Amino acid sequence: MADYKTPRGTQDILPAETRKWNEVEELIRSVCYYYGYDEIRTPIFEDTKVFKRENDSSDMVNKEMYTFSIHQEDSLTLRPEGTAGVIRSFVQHKMFGNMEMPAKLYYMGEMFRYERPQKGRYRQFNQFGVENIGVKSPLVDAEIIALGYSIVKALGLSQIKVIVNTLGDDESRKNYREKLKEHFKDSVADLCGDCQRRYEQNPLRLLDCKIDKDHPSMLNVPRMHDSLTEESKEYFQEVLQALDALEIPYEIDDRLVRGLDYYTHTVFEVVSTHPESGSQATVFAGGRYDGLVEYFHGPQMSGVGFAMGLERLMILAEAEGIELGKQDGIDVYVMALGNVGTKPLEIATACRANGFVSEFNILPRSLKAQFKSVDRKQAKVVVIVGEEELKDHKVNVKCVATQTQVTVDLDKVVETVEEMLEKEGE
Ligand code: ATP
Ligand code: MG
Repeated sequence: MADYKTPRGTQDILPAETRKWNEVEELIRSVCYYYGYDEIRTPIFEDTKVFKRENDSSDMVNKEMYTFSIHQEDSLTLRPEGTAGVIRSFVQHKMFGNMEMPAKLYYMGEMFRYERPQKGRYRQFNQFGVENIGVKSPLVDAEIIALGYSIVKALGLSQIKVIVNTLGDDESRKNYREKLKEHFKDSVADLCGDCQRRYEQNPLRLLDCKIDKDHPSMLNVPRMHDSLTEESKEYFQEVLQALDALEIPYEIDDRLVRGLDYYTHTVFEVVSTHPESGSQATVFAGGRYDGLVEYFHGPQMSGVGFAMGLERLMILAEAEGIELGKQDGIDVYVMALGNVGTKPLEIATACRANGFVSEFNILPRSLKAQFKSVDRKQAKVVVIVGEEELKDHKVNVKCVATQTQVTVDLDKVVETVEEMLEKEGE
């Protein structure tokens, strides 16, 4: 066993896998481009107070953060999520004043959470996320869901389900919190430690508990819908109408509250229904938030966004049999026979400069061994640089598919390769 290994909950992504990652990332960037979202890159660590907001009851903030401080400087935290850093940046750079609203931003990168590692759950993982800040409209909520949904669909995932709910406005949530407190008043002592904390800090989060979800008191909880103000009901109806208009199928789940404390109105989750996805089924999740821009001392502005777990996306793609990162064969393989010096390198370099994917033989090897490389790399054209031919300023160029071979002057190699590749492509 190797003496040095990746830390628990982290992984190396090796070349066969990075090809898949690149393909998925390109797909995501292209969908963002069509939706008019621009990339933002914020630091991987921030002042702890960016993430740890007062009275936040989420597990992520309370138990999962990698927090450290160096040389008695202020406490820093490796980002456990993307939204807080983006909003911090939005305010720091006064985007609300010098950009057209809404600001449409996306990010992609590593997040860190101290969790118990298992399939689809890591300590370092990658998220793609979007934030639309500055305009509060049901149309924007629907557009954001559509953006995430298009990515999942474009990737080819079919076994997925969109779940939506509303948490209403402040007044609705206040009503609901009171009803929940009343409901759990007698049973709270019987619930897990986290639930007891949630009862005090944010009773809505009781509905999110994975431990007590089957406790008798959870079975007949009051329904959020009954606490909604008329305005909140109307807002939610408009979100649903927009989803209908876009033909995005969804289910309404009255119990969906989501893990972060700053959500208002629309919340949603897109989950896999594939049997292998188990308890790590959520592909992306998000909602509308109020108060976050103000928390960072910006103006009163609403935003909406989601975060997508890329490892989970890849695991689900694999489970559904979607082939990613297929490798094309190369265009040119340059062989070397005898003492031919730098010529193969020169030819490969000239071919590359002309846009052909090229490799050349480096080690002294038999013709047979070199042809094995041609096979392995699925080269379309082979250039054979032989010591004898080189004396006459000539090389052989061979088309692998037709097995036709011509002897040409060194100055004509690139031209000949190009002709063969063109014929091949026909
Ligand atoms: P869960 O309930 O599975 O812990 P969460 O509510 O903590 O999820 P979010 O904070 O909403 O997750 O993050 C958005 C997405 O990021 C998740 O839906 C998931 O796809 C992914 N994700 C979250 N935590 C991890 C992790 N530890 N490892 C891999 N992916 C993760
Ligand atoms: Mg979590």
